[in-house]
Amino acid sequence: MQARTAMFARTGGPEVIEWHTVDVPAPGAGEVTLRQTAVGLNYIDTYHRGGIYPVELPSGLGLEAAGIIEAVGEGVEGLAAGDRVATFGPARGAYADVRNVAASSLFKLPDNISDEIAAAALLKGCTTEFLVERCARVQPGQAVLVHAAAGGVGLLLVQWLKAVGATVIGTVSSEAKAALARQAGADHIVFYTREDTAKRVRELTGGAGVRVVFDGVGLDTWEASLDSTGKRGLIVSYGNASAPVTGISLGVLATKGSLYNTRPTLFDYYTDPAERAAGAARLWEMIGSGKVKVTIGQTYPLEQAAQAHRDLESRATSGSTLLVP
Ligand code: NDP
Repeated sequence: MQARTAMFARTGGPEVIEWHTVDVPAPGAGEVTLRQTAVGLNYIDTYHRGGIYPVELPSGLGLEAAGIIEAVGEGVEGLAAGDRVATFGPARGAYADVRNVAASSLFKLPDNISDEIAAAALLKGCTTEFLVERCARVQPGQAVLVHAAAGGVGLLLVQWLKAVGATVIGTVSSEAKAALARQAGADHIVFYTREDTAKRVRELTGGAGVRVVFDGVGLDTWEASLDSTGKRGLIVSYGNASAPVTGISLGVLATKGSLYNTRPTLFDYYTDPAERAAGAARLWEMIGSGKVKVTIGQTYPLEQAAQAHRDLESRATSGSTLLVP
């Protein structure tokens, strides 16, 4: 069987993404052959492509996809041809129409979760689940700040936090994004490209600051995050959409009010099979109950992934982005 797949042999801009036709062998032991119907675009794909997160080259690209199993390899249990499944990695190579993947990386999809919703929400929604419920452990009534609130993870975070009972302040760069974040339930919006974020957050919280900041923007928002967090509050630094935060002196956490700071990743919160199953079940429950709605902001043909990267990196996207084989 042949497949179309994206590779990059050197790091750089979106132009380094190349498309190849490759042979897909029969699935090896512990693998399945997956015919992918929807691929999820994630910011981490740009870190791999651009070199912020170094990978061995040449490399496949993309972590997240949904589709139908075509064949199962030796030793695979609990999965069969025809099953609908999704994956969020960690192996790269999701930018493809067909490929072999480790069965251990797959999540079976419930009937009420379409392939498109799965590819738009599995990685970002499982991230939201662990950030809110297991990392920051947000409690009802707490005030929280979500940067890039109209992004893929952002819109899910806002809704999940509202479902928990938090008061949500969201930052965005445009009126259109503000409307999306409000629709998702954000109580207050701050235009962080033209307002003093920390000053606004202090005004909105009666001077106290927020209990938790969710910061996936990184370098550009680090100072605002520090100044927006209340005494003994927590900054969850979970991404680098602007650039990574480096060279921080720990003492700043003392001078800003005995703050906590963590830099978590999905894979450390989704380790063993039981933890993975529980986290995904919680995500499907939040979507199934209607508490969390998945916004697919834009869809591209798979082989236009380079354009999708350009749009993501120039802040032109909102919600989740799908690449369709
Ligand atoms: P988004 O859809 O949120 O896209 C990024 C958004 O960040 C933009 O739309 C933009 O929103 C905002 N932004 C602010 N400054 C910049 C900048 N200089 N360049 C580009 N964007 C900027 O992406 P994702 O939902 O895929 O990911 C969100 C974050 O979550 C990323 O940092 C990602 O790495 C992280 N992440 C971390 C995980 C983990 O395990 N730690 C797992 C999954 C995601 P606006 O226009 O409103 O400013």
